[in-house]
Amino acid sequence: MKISELLKEKATISFEVFPPKNKEGDISSIYYTIEELAKLNPDFISVTYGAGGSSKGKTVEIASAIKNQYQIESVAHLSCITSAKEDILTECRALKEHNVDNILSLRGDYPAGEEEKYRDMNLEFHYASELNEFIRENFGDSFCLSGACYPEVHQEADCFRDDLEALKKKVDAGAEYLITQIFFDNSYYYRLVKEARKIGITVPILAGIMPVTNAKSLLRTAKLCGCSIPFQLSTMIETYYNYPEAMKEIGINYAAHQIIDLITNGVDGIHIYTMNKPEIAQRIFANIPTVLKELNHD
Ligand code: FAD
Repeated sequence: MKISELLKEKATISFEVFPPKNKEGDISSIYYTIEELAKLNPDFISVTYGAGGSSKGKTVEIASAIKNQYQIESVAHLSCITSAKEDILTECRALKEHNVDNILSLRGDYPAGEEEKYRDMNLEFHYASELNEFIRENFGDSFCLSGACYPEVHQEADCFRDDLEALKKKVDAGAEYLITQIFFDNSYYYRLVKEARKIGITVPILAGIMPVTNAKSLLRTAKLCGCSIPFQLSTMIETYYNYPEAMKEIGINYAAHQIIDLITNGVDGIHIYTMNKPEIAQRIFANIPTVLKELNHD
């Protein structure tokens, strides 16, 4: 089923997982993660895409297992910046063979340390919007396409307006819903939705929430994603930096609080970056079961 069809009926709740990273390319631990997440009855689970490294090629396998083994809708991420058109055709055909109907279509980033190499190359794709066009040209409407968006502006964009105009192009090229980058201050999400609607972006915008349970990784992730840390949260981090259990409680409760506020304000959907830690998502669900029912979930 296409996620765009689901979103016509209700606000969704979904999870993101990534192919486990190890030298052997062993992904078996993902099955435990999926089984535990399945208990929370998500509308879909998305699987990230790594253009290189040991997890290359695992996205299709995992997205297929989610759909065909666990009967949960899956979304396969697909990035294009380092890909040839032929690679994208191969990937899309494999997704079709496994009945995966949904693609989160991304530009991606150059592999760390190889920026110069790719900058000098004649790239076949420059933006996610070109990937959308290419998939539509070759596969028609057979996939539901979605895209990424950035409440605090994509790091390479000069300003919010330019990024918003680029987002409009991505939607016009076929993205049927959007998922946001992480944010810890909901007002950035509300600004993005408000301004997007003003320029005619009407597709659902799902809020990407990351429950950060480790101070060090929170600071690293926020820097990497260009996402600010509100004063209140940064004070908590400073106070509890060396108390892992307290940081876990803070991360879970902070995410739950963000979700309550988003649902109260009519969010189109909540997408939780699980970091392959299902127990964290389970604890959030246990904290706010009645509020989550507002999104038609038990
Ligand atoms: P684009 O939409 O192409 O935008 C990239 C930049 O170009 C932006 O600054 C934008 O403003 C600008 N731009 C876009 N179109 C135009 C245009 N036509 N003219 C001028 N400027 C333009 N990365 C992975 O490698 N694997 C993943 O699985 C993955 N999953 C993600 C999931 C989510 C929900 C999010 C938010 C990000 C994810 N990423 C992933 C990271 C993403 O690949 C990077 O953020 C990347 O830098 C941008 O990808 P994009 O698809 O948003 O790019």
